[in-house]
Amino acid sequence: MGQLRRRIAAPLVLGALVGSALSTTPASSQLSSQLPSLSADQLLAIAHVEAPPAGIGLELHIDFPAEKPLDVAGVEFNAITAVINPDRSVDMQSAVAAESATGAAEADECTDPTFAPTGRSWDAADMPVVWNFRGGSTPPENSKFFTKRSLRQAHHVWPLSESRCTNQDRVDFVYNYGGGTKRTVTYDHKNIVEFGNLSSGALAINYTWFSGTRILETDLRLNRAYSWTNRPQGRNAYQVVNVVTHELGHQLGLDDLSDPHGGLTMFGRIARGELKKTTLGSGDVRGASRLSP
Ligand SMILES: [Zn+2]
Repeated sequence: MGQLRRRIAAPLVLGALVGSALSTTPASSQLSSQLPSLSADQLLAIAHVEAPPAGIGLELHIDFPAEKPLDVAGVEFNAITAVINPDRSVDMQSAVAAESATGAAEADECTDPTFAPTGRSWDAADMPVVWNFRGGSTPPENSKFFTKRSLRQAHHVWPLSESRCTNQDRVDFVYNYGGGTKRTVTYDHKNIVEFGNLSSGALAINYTWFSGTRILETDLRLNRAYSWTNRPQGRNAYQVVNVVTHELGHQLGLDDLSDPHGGLTMFGRIARGELKKTTLGSGDVRGASRLSP
């Protein structure tokens, strides 16, 4: 995919850490769409994370708010999936363009069978996945109690394949809540959820460390710079349960989907006040079932 890479010298709307070296590359997999080209250093700067240790890869799912997509040389993105390989080479795996390329009507979540595996998944020997919450990172305007409740609710959605649809598959993925933690996002064999700093306007980033096709650890960070809410009627902030349910799909090994799959939890565009990602659609459950350890 690197041969067609071209630099675009237009000014960029990006955080200072990332600088002006971002460019886009025509995507081979998505019709009339493009992938941004990011270096390992740029990705690590956006994600505020150290490079993975020798022999370990790091998959980053970076979701931007629908209201504030990433602007790379005039092309806007709602989501980017990038892989830093053990040899530090980067694969831009997918991106969700901010505007629908097809103009097709949104598919119904109960009849849309679409899912996109990342190629990495959990081993049965690693079940259950124990996760911890850094409650001390909760923004001051949010209740730690209700935030934890939203997180726990999101962690139930995938294992129980909670859905409004019928004819569901079986999902054998298991999460266990391991309590509070003071740890932050880093490769330490602990799966944590926290609020923290992210650059370039990212709303949330899911971090998956892997070896070969086996997932070793996943951490999740929500950007403290945005307004978050645990109240279903909160329309002017991002719903913790909605965003985290989507991010946990990344933890299972599912990638973002582009238009017209807006009914599904793995659709890679997240809006303020949105709650529809908290119930799984047909493709979400099929994907989770297929990836079940
Ligand atoms: Zn996503």
